[in-house]
Amino acid sequence: MRVTGFPLFTSREVPADAEIISHQLMLRAGLIARLGVGLYTWLPLGLRVLRNVERVVREEMDRIGSLEVLMPAVQPAELWQESGRWNRYGPLLLRIKDRHEREFCFGPTHEEVITDLVRREIHSYRQLPVTYYQIQTKFRDEIRPRFGVMRAREFLMKDAYSFHQSQASLQQTYDAMRGAYSRIFERLGLSFRPVRADSGAIGGAVSEEFHVLADSGEDEIAACERCDYAANTELAESRLPSPAGEPPADHEEHETPDIHTVAEQAEILGIPITKVVKTVVVMADNEPAVLFVAGDDALNMVKAANTLGASEIRLAEPEEAQRATGVPRGFIGPRGLPEGLRTLVDARAAQITNFSSGANRKDYHWVNLNWDRDMPLPEVADLRTVKAGEQCPRCDGHLVITRGIEVGHIFQLGTKYSESMNATVLDVNGHGVPMIMGCYGIGVSRVVAAAIEQNHDERGIIWPVPLAPFQVAIVSINAHRSESVRSEAERLYEALGAAGLEPLWDDREARPGVKFADMELIGIPHRLVVSDRGLAAGTVEYRGRTESTSRHLPRERVVEFLRSPHQET
Ligand code: ATP
Ligand code: MG
Repeated sequence: MRVTGFPLFTSREVPADAEIISHQLMLRAGLIARLGVGLYTWLPLGLRVLRNVERVVREEMDRIGSLEVLMPAVQPAELWQESGRWNRYGPLLLRIKDRHEREFCFGPTHEEVITDLVRREIHSYRQLPVTYYQIQTKFRDEIRPRFGVMRAREFLMKDAYSFHQSQASLQQTYDAMRGAYSRIFERLGLSFRPVRADSGAIGGAVSEEFHVLADSGEDEIAACERCDYAANTELAESRLPSPAGEPPADHEEHETPDIHTVAEQAEILGIPITKVVKTVVVMADNEPAVLFVAGDDALNMVKAANTLGASEIRLAEPEEAQRATGVPRGFIGPRGLPEGLRTLVDARAAQITNFSSGANRKDYHWVNLNWDRDMPLPEVADLRTVKAGEQCPRCDGHLVITRGIEVGHIFQLGTKYSESMNATVLDVNGHGVPMIMGCYGIGVSRVVAAAIEQNHDERGIIWPVPLAPFQVAIVSINAHRSESVRSEAERLYEALGAAGLEPLWDDREARPGVKFADMELIGIPHRLVVSDRGLAAGTVEYRGRTESTSRHLPRERVVEFLRSPHQET
């Protein structure tokens, strides 16, 4: 492409509302343009990058025998009512009505549609296993759209679904998919890590996320420094040393007015924070539950939801907590709670002896409470978020906490959808059995932003070669005045194009500095400069995007130089 026929929408200004570097650079480089909250247009330059991601994804899906389909974005409500998700998916689901007042949604994901397709078309175990995928626009009415295409409302996803007669067959496809995901992210030049992930309300099922490691990531990952254990902190576990035993002491109630935090409680009572058991009241599917965790631990809401079997969980409002326990928040504790309330204690909090907690009486706290002696030990569960430095659950190594951007998610669904939607096949004995399912997503548009988070400098984007919208930038200097510059640039442009090297010729009548800055901002891996001075010596100037000095290549060797494999690095 010639820039005179392929206008760039670059800008020097950092957009005020773009918080992270990829969002800033995507706007400044003219890859995307904002239409509304969480809605973006892909401009010609950005679309070339997006298509590159799609191409790699498609190649690897095809390679493992996944079959491409394209399902409607608009889905009938009835299917979602059948699976039970019409209500459960909540406000994330964009609901729409047609002219006959029939209800639909704009698909945030396609389990229902694919299950409906397969139950109509596939009847015998002999037709299994089968995997379908599509690359398609999704809509999720995110509570907090931000970071541009990273967390948009409308975005491009590759979603795949597999159907099986046996768990062993599902495992096989799951493993193949896992391999394909690793190849995809490797080919795209990303530094990533597969991590164990929460399987949400589905429960019990195996699920892994693929994270691109970046400080701006919204997720936290706990990874062992020694073995390959890595998990989203939503479900990461650690091995804790057993606490030193301590003989039980006599418990006492203390007056503690005006206490608002655990730190204040410890300070006023003159005890370490590790001797505090704090109480958190949550609403799990709108039912109150009272949870106890160690004073220095954070309650993990995902673990709590999974243990309580809730699809939705939140902290109780102060009035809700008071209504459930009869005690103002801040003074609730395990001793003397009303009967019939659901209670859980975290495994670490369950081991603390002689601890302090709310006395279930306004302005009072206990010290030296002990489980079993002073009140029954509630059901014990893992409810805390791990911390950096704790011991790996698998080996003697220690956990480090890093941040990641979730770019993919693979999931063993089991029979959740096939049972609720009655998707069965006849087995070898002629009995109808529900199909076993897997589902596998990649955030195609998010990958573009994630790649920029990992690959940029103060001058702009540094595209990994397979993602680059163009491979080579040709900057011609004074071509409008110099016939020899114009014709050499033209010759190189034709030759590079013929060699499949996707050149972008900046043939504008602009100052060289402007052109250099633009080519660096948009991140083209290789740059050639054609000038009268170079041509007088028979050379063209070359510089790689990450290099700080230029080389002078004999003009007839340029194409060969760019084709040689050492240029890939
Ligand atoms: P997240 O936890 O980031 O909200 P999710 O777990 O809800 O994502 P999945 O249902 O697993 O998302 O969707 C598959 C993939 O689609 C995700 O791994 C992610 O890369 C991408 N994705 C999900 N939501 C968005 C979004 N709002 N904008 C862009 N990409 C998204
Ligand atoms: Mg996910």
